[in-house]
Amino acid sequence: MSHIAYVNGRYLPQRSATVHIEDRGYQFADGVYEVFLVWNGVPVDYAPHIVRLNRSLSELRMRMPMSPAALTVVMKEVIRRNHMKTGIVYIQVNRGVASRAHPFPNGDIKPSIVVTAKHFAGSSDAMAEQGAKVVTAPDIRWERRDIKSVGLLANVLARQGATEAKAYEAILVTADGTVTEASASNAWIITADKTIVTHPTTNAILGGVTRATVKDLAKQAGYTVQERPFTLEEAKNAKEVFLTGTTTFVMPVAQIDDKPVGNGTGGLIALDLRRRYRRYIDTLDAATAWNV
Ligand code: PLP
Repeated sequence: MSHIAYVNGRYLPQRSATVHIEDRGYQFADGVYEVFLVWNGVPVDYAPHIVRLNRSLSELRMRMPMSPAALTVVMKEVIRRNHMKTGIVYIQVNRGVASRAHPFPNGDIKPSIVVTAKHFAGSSDAMAEQGAKVVTAPDIRWERRDIKSVGLLANVLARQGATEAKAYEAILVTADGTVTEASASNAWIITADKTIVTHPTTNAILGGVTRATVKDLAKQAGYTVQERPFTLEEAKNAKEVFLTGTTTFVMPVAQIDDKPVGNGTGGLIALDLRRRYRRYIDTLDAATAWNV
């Protein structure tokens, strides 16, 4: 069965869906995107994903080509046409099509928009129990990582390094030894006194939607959460390390490069948070989940 994509006003079989060669997303990575989870037919944290999409657009002085209500209709229709119960929806908005020149095009060009959906059953519970292996990579990205831009080449290179090392993810480390986040997820440590620590939401990281939800769930469960930068050295010596993200959920980390973390298996607090996150997505209110 061919996937159906929404492309600039039309629903098309994905294999025949194309974009213009002078789309600025293609030529300059002049575009932004979002990925959200649909779990048993219910979108997870839809509103904060849309808030972040609008923020990314406004930081780059781009506009959304349709109203929030129309966008929701498109999302639902793409999910319906792909018969998707559980999976991820991808939305990309580019500045639009114009003759190649670095400055923004003159006039009010129409942004391009693509929405796709694909089945995805969530990150592996077996891997979570065992704890994932991660590698480290230098964080060579630009200084506006808070914008969910499609300019992902540094993330791609880091993730390729992880794949070649048969690791789940690459955590990104700045020149001064700070762990910012990972190539497609946020990074956390748990200290000896059980404080849960993650990088604050500055321009240095993407403010993960899952990060915000897990922070709330952790606080509700009575854990102490601290938002401060931490170093790779701290992470390697932490009681536990874990990652969060839309496709990651909560993933305990058992190894960083060649160093086992904690007791070398999925940490108990991280696994507790994974269970709480799972309960959260299992019990979302379908009636309000599409509200923005
Ligand atoms: N950090 C980066 C660089 C990401 O690409 C992502 C998700 O793709 C995340 C963090 C996690 O964000 P979210 O929880 O909103 O998926």
